[in-house]
Amino acid sequence: MTKLLVLGGRFAGLTAAYTAKRLLGDKIDVTLINNTPYAAFRPGMPHVSIGVFKAEDLLVDLGTALPAKGIKFKQGTVTKIDAKKNRVEYDDPSGHKQTEDYDYLVVGFGAKLGIEHIKGWHEYGNSVCEPDYATALHEKLEKFQGGNIAIGSGIFYQGTLTPRGTYPKNWAAPADSACEGPVFEMSLMIPAYLKKRGILDKTHITIFSPGEEILTDISKESRGVVKSLYSSQGFDMVWNFKLAEVRKDEIVSEDGKTIKADIAIILPPYEHNDAVTNSTPDLFDDGGFIPTDAHMRSIKYDNIYACGDANQMTVPKLGYLAVQTSRIAMQDLANRLGVPTKIDEYHPEVVCIADNPLEGFAIAVNDTTFYGGTKGLAVPSPTNHMKKELFTKYFMWTNGDMALDKYLASW
Ligand SMILES: Cc1cc2nc3c(=O)[nH]c(=O)nc-3n(C[C@H](O)[C@H](O)[C@H](O)COP(=O)(O)OP(=O)(O)OC[C@H]3O[C@@H](n4cnc5c(N)ncnc54)[C@H](O)[C@@H]3O)c2cc1C
Repeated sequence: MTKLLVLGGRFAGLTAAYTAKRLLGDKIDVTLINNTPYAAFRPGMPHVSIGVFKAEDLLVDLGTALPAKGIKFKQGTVTKIDAKKNRVEYDDPSGHKQTEDYDYLVVGFGAKLGIEHIKGWHEYGNSVCEPDYATALHEKLEKFQGGNIAIGSGIFYQGTLTPRGTYPKNWAAPADSACEGPVFEMSLMIPAYLKKRGILDKTHITIFSPGEEILTDISKESRGVVKSLYSSQGFDMVWNFKLAEVRKDEIVSEDGKTIKADIAIILPPYEHNDAVTNSTPDLFDDGGFIPTDAHMRSIKYDNIYACGDANQMTVPKLGYLAVQTSRIAMQDLANRLGVPTKIDEYHPEVVCIADNPLEGFAIAVNDTTFYGGTKGLAVPSPTNHMKKELFTKYFMWTNGDMALDKYLASW
């Protein structure tokens, strides 16, 4: 039987594994390798930091969820893809080296949080990107009695998109930050949290970005709305701030500028996954991301698909794009394996919801200007908060099987 190996078990990996099984049934043997026994629902981690959810309520147990759908799960940290031998090397949980062969491969293990690029991270850095970080931030915020908070993102080590995949040129471009949605979301949540605790008037908030201004991947008009919102709340805004160091009570940029911060909430720098750059060299671009065609096939290795954050063209790095890329990849695979299937066209759009659960509203962003389009929506409403809640419940209820996502894409 044809063997599909999927690396990574979050939006991209799970969508690929579930879709392949749904489309191909007994024609395909699917194995998924992930370095943790669970998939954490990342879009819910900001909520964990302000105490709306507990991290353990947002974990999908892969060892139960995947076999229930006929997919094998192996826990392990992938260290290398040998694209010429169709073989993956990984370390199992007891540290033993293992290999797994494949006929087709999906690389869905995302980008790496480049915390090593920030001096002082381990003492003073805070983030909401993974369950441990979000829980630790929640504990810190609960003890906070007022002072300075800075919220922003690190640099995106994207490379120059060289060599470029064979997809339309407007689908990918250099970006200042990999994903500022969570920064925007935290800039809504934190004031609401501080207000609830009665310490908002004792706190000064600064929003920073490595870019010319925040959210350069959405329309100028929407950015204007965001900046007016920040001004009306008395936030400082610092742009072109390329974060280099976190100290006890301030953060420092590469060129020596400082921002006062007793708590710095950071979307860390994003960079390539080390397992990719340890792999067959012509698999990846100069930033360590994988260039593909429009059906997510590697431009060098026809039996390797790259989906989600690991793919060169998914900019900004968004769950919405991760799900789309995996669905398209597996529709392509189904046709190759003799099951005629309509292949969706990839539609790059910034789709995300910045939630403010403590005040019962959210801002839904749907923007195509980064790709040369004209759509630039940023709509605040209580309904959008409900959509984010539904997105969370849907992911947990289906164990990360986003089959209906394309019909519900306005979230
Ligand atoms: C705080 C936060 C909130 C977000 N909110 C939203 C949102 O509301 N909407 C939205 O569309 N997007 C959101 N995003 C972006 C979205 O989470 C990512 O784009 C998406 O998770 C990418 O999915 P992926 O599967 O490609 O990669 P990842 O989510 O990074 O998943 C990769 C998986 O592979 C595993 N892995 C990594 N390395 C290895 C290895 N060497 N061996 C084995 N396994 C490995 C990881 O543990 C993980 O399970 C958010 C991002 C953050 C940080």
